[in-house]
Amino acid sequence: MRHEPGQYAREAMPRGLRRFAPLSAHASLLDLDLEMYRTHGKRVLLLDMDNTVVPWRTHEVPTEVREFLRRAQDLGYKICAVSNTSRMERLREICADLGIDHVRARNKPSRRMFVQALRLFQAEPHEALMVGDQLMTDVLGANRAGIDAVWVAPMSNKEFIGTKINRMVESVVGKFLYRYFQPSVAFGVAPKREGLFKHQVVKEFLKFGIVGATSTALDWGLHYLLMYKATWGGQLLSEVVGAWMLGMVNPGAVATEKALSDAAYAPLKILPVLIAIFNGYYWNSKWTFRVAERTLQAKLISRFYIVALAAMVVNLVVSTSVKIAVHGSAQKAFWVASFVGMIVAAFVNFIGQRQWTFRDTKRSS
Ligand SMILES: [Mg+2]
Repeated sequence: MRHEPGQYAREAMPRGLRRFAPLSAHASLLDLDLEMYRTHGKRVLLLDMDNTVVPWRTHEVPTEVREFLRRAQDLGYKICAVSNTSRMERLREICADLGIDHVRARNKPSRRMFVQALRLFQAEPHEALMVGDQLMTDVLGANRAGIDAVWVAPMSNKEFIGTKINRMVESVVGKFLYRYFQPSVAFGVAPKREGLFKHQVVKEFLKFGIVGATSTALDWGLHYLLMYKATWGGQLLSEVVGAWMLGMVNPGAVATEKALSDAAYAPLKILPVLIAIFNGYYWNSKWTFRVAERTLQAKLISRFYIVALAAMVVNLVVSTSVKIAVHGSAQKAFWVASFVGMIVAAFVNFIGQRQWTFRDTKRSS
């Protein structure tokens, strides 16, 4: 369902609806203006865990979330997990790891856990702020306890089956709530600038280019080393591999230096490209597309590799053809081929990674 950042005019709502209304909505926990809420008297931060702090069922708290919580603590916030999880061991570990408290009582939307948490810090309801990704548990529960709630979009779409059912109810309630939705400022939160999307694509493209340059440097450098520096049994590795390849493909061929080098070019490019892909995955997920979720997700990695491998095939086909087509010294042909292969593959790669691999991931701002 729609989840837009903005405020809800709770005072204008009928009472029944107000129970489900958050104070505001954000794309992520990270978008919370901690300083602003602090100046409005908030000193206790209550957090839902699954899909608010960590993706459902995982242990890995994203670095940005970690830094965010540390910043909250530095600002004087007391932080407490208010989770419906049945896996207490995991909850304890995550909370200990983050240095935050947790309470456990009857599941949200019961008031119990909220009341416990307030008691823990001897706080009044108006001093606390609840952050969660579900209207039917996090927001409703907080409102029942008289606590302001902030609604964030879930970190991932993997969810408990019960949550999926809650989401259906949520989408109905959400439709009514949106009548009172204001996408602008109410509580001092700066609205997002228009044209940000365009700006963002350009920024991503530039970053992707920079990451691509480091990957390419790795690819070319390693490939060059393997082709012209690495030795095997006192002979150049490329000559050994080239002779082996020629022997397999065309046993009668004349093993000139160029023929050996041509034959070794493709097999010796595989390892450098695979290493370059990993480099690209790492920096593009962390930096270019700023994935807020756990970046070591099987789905993300496999998609990245599928796209990158497709780009690698393109690179291999293009650069190998160019290498053979270019006249002159073997080394000159090597650099021309590498350059043309890189340009074409980078284009394929950017489109694929942006439009497919990272399309549905949540970005930290
Ligand atoms: Mg949740």
